[in-house]
Amino acid sequence: MDRLPLVVGGGALAAYLWTRNRVRTATPAPPMPVTATTSVDPRLPGRWVWPVQSWKGRIPVISDGFKSPRPGLPRHGGVDIMYERLPADTFKQGTPHGAKWHVMPDDVTVVAAHDGVVWSAMPSPTGIAVVIDHSPLKAATFYAHLETLAVKETARAESKQRVRAGELLGTVGLNPLDGERLRHLHFELWLGGPNDRIDPEEIMKRWDVVDDPRRGVLVARNGGFHYRPVGASGEPYPSWVRELVGRAGVYLIRDAETAELLYVGSSTGRLYDTLTRHFQTWRRWKKFWKGQYAEGHDPGLTYKRDSVEVAVRVTRADQALDEEARLIRRLRPRDNLLGQPVDDEVPF
Ligand SMILES: [Zn+2]
Repeated sequence: MDRLPLVVGGGALAAYLWTRNRVRTATPAPPMPVTATTSVDPRLPGRWVWPVQSWKGRIPVISDGFKSPRPGLPRHGGVDIMYERLPADTFKQGTPHGAKWHVMPDDVTVVAAHDGVVWSAMPSPTGIAVVIDHSPLKAATFYAHLETLAVKETARAESKQRVRAGELLGTVGLNPLDGERLRHLHFELWLGGPNDRIDPEEIMKRWDVVDDPRRGVLVARNGGFHYRPVGASGEPYPSWVRELVGRAGVYLIRDAETAELLYVGSSTGRLYDTLTRHFQTWRRWKKFWKGQYAEGHDPGLTYKRDSVEVAVRVTRADQALDEEARLIRRLRPRDNLLGQPVDDEVPF
């Protein structure tokens, strides 16, 4: 169900919201929280975040409020979360991605609203549902209609999996039993137990909004790089490397022991393949890569996986090459510079 946004109500508030919305959407999505306040509700100390990520700089909004009437059903037990429709949005009304006033694209992440333990995470007839227990606070949060699940399936906290505020739980889906089949997150805040649902709307006004945590873990807040080991030959790659499939960006490879920067590379859409081929010496021997990559060349340099660390910055596809060039000029990695002319100092 789709709630008429306040924007159409007229007056100063409407003007404020309209301006705020324009400001927020005029700038590219920041890599980290777009707001930086904390909950001041005495029952909910600490950091709380909206359970849906910001999307292209847009903050999520409540598209259908607590206790809204449902024909033939009990009143709404939580709030539904989507993004406000903007004039340029192409999602058609009546599709899973569009209501009259709101939209929800594919692959939007659902994140934990606060630190806690995964109490339950499992499929249900209305989509995947997750409950996070925020003990020692007498609080829990409930997330419904997920399409994919990023935490371990569990019941009664058997997995003992801990999550932090803003950590990935899964992606937004739809309720298969809902005639509208509209993508949205159904979210509930329980203070005490499932029968103590409260209207979270006022409280949520003071919560942070975070960006897609699949990017957040890759991008350091200060713009610096976070280097991590990538395991040893034959081991599966860590999940943050596997999440680079289909993404664009730059990667930096450094010597794990001396921290010397060895190589900077980029990809406009195959970041996982482009990075990991540096560790695939057996493929190189077999000339596996010959003619495989339009954007690439011979993988050139291969490194022993367990002797290096890697940092990644995910970018838009059209930014990857510029960012790579900028970093090579600035950081002068050892192996990129072999036989290459080096520009003189450039301002950054
Ligand atoms: Zn709902």
